Amino acid sequence: MSLHVHLWGIRGSLPSPLTPATIEEKIGSAIRAYEKDRAYIKDIATFVKGLPQTIGAGYGGHTSCIEVQTPKSRMIVDGGSGIRVLGEKLMLEACGAGRGVVHILMTHFHWDHLIGLPFFTPIFVPGNQIHFHAVQPELEENIRRVFCKPNFPVAFENLPAKIQFHRLKPREPHVFADLTITPYQLDHPDPCWGYRFEHDGKVFSHCVDTECLRVTREALGPDLPLYQNVDLMTFDAQYTFLEASERVNWGHASGPIGIDLALREKVKKILFIHHDPGANDSKVIDAERQTREYYDSVLAAARAKGESITPLDWQFAREGMSFTV
Ligand SMILES: [Zn+2]
Ligand SMILES: [Zn+2]
Repeated sequence: MSLHVHLWGIRGSLPSPLTPATIEEKIGSAIRAYEKDRAYIKDIATFVKGLPQTIGAGYGGHTSCIEVQTPKSRMIVDGGSGIRVLGEKLMLEACGAGRGVVHILMTHFHWDHLIGLPFFTPIFVPGNQIHFHAVQPELEENIRRVFCKPNFPVAFENLPAKIQFHRLKPREPHVFADLTITPYQLDHPDPCWGYRFEHDGKVFSHCVDTECLRVTREALGPDLPLYQNVDLMTFDAQYTFLEASERVNWGHASGPIGIDLALREKVKKILFIHHDPGANDSKVIDAERQTREYYDSVLAAARAKGESITPLDWQFAREGMSFTV
């Protein structure tokens, strides 16, 4: 029994594909690295996987789409551009035969979280059932608006799949076979809900998009359980700490904010995602380095004061990564 999380899209705000110039630069750097270490390289695939992200594949360009899977349930969180690729995978399964049942959980309705929906192939196959879930009462109207001329040629009424909408109650558990989901509010300019997924004693919390303006337990109040007894957490790190301090009310956080929260609540592992569209791979690496310096300084300060602190497993995640808890 396991809870599996796959990252199909983790870029924030806007899809951000690598440009041909960047790819040429990466290929050139990779060839130079190969020439330098040629004598020690046993196989190309391992060499390529081991390249630093500035030279290697990088962090990915697709916007928000996360797949959460248990033995009896599959939930897709958000329909950013990453959902198009996930849709191709689903078409190889029951969705391709018009027998698919798909559940999509929306956090909120900013473009980067729904821009992939018109390109989600299972929605164009008769017989498939697509269930949308959200806390926001405007769920149906917001999804209908995505499939609407002049922005998209196929009107919502003409979509071949059967589409249903379901309202989730805030801070109440909802059971989907062997997966329990509870929505908690995040701090974002338009209402946005994070989700706590529970399966067989394991917990995954999805905390994106959020500026995390409420940090203390008191301020978090009824939304505190989103961060407690968590095995794996995804957290908004769109900005560096300096950028986050300059962009108040822009709705996004940074690595150090997540580190503080996760250390205090003893989260086991935290993945930083929703990378800024303007951040190239070097900039994401730099944000990770700054977060590392902050994390090390917090641990050193705690040790100096003789306080016990549970070390935290964390990283800046890349598109395509999978985690099992
Ligand atoms: Zn977003
Ligand atoms: Zn947003």
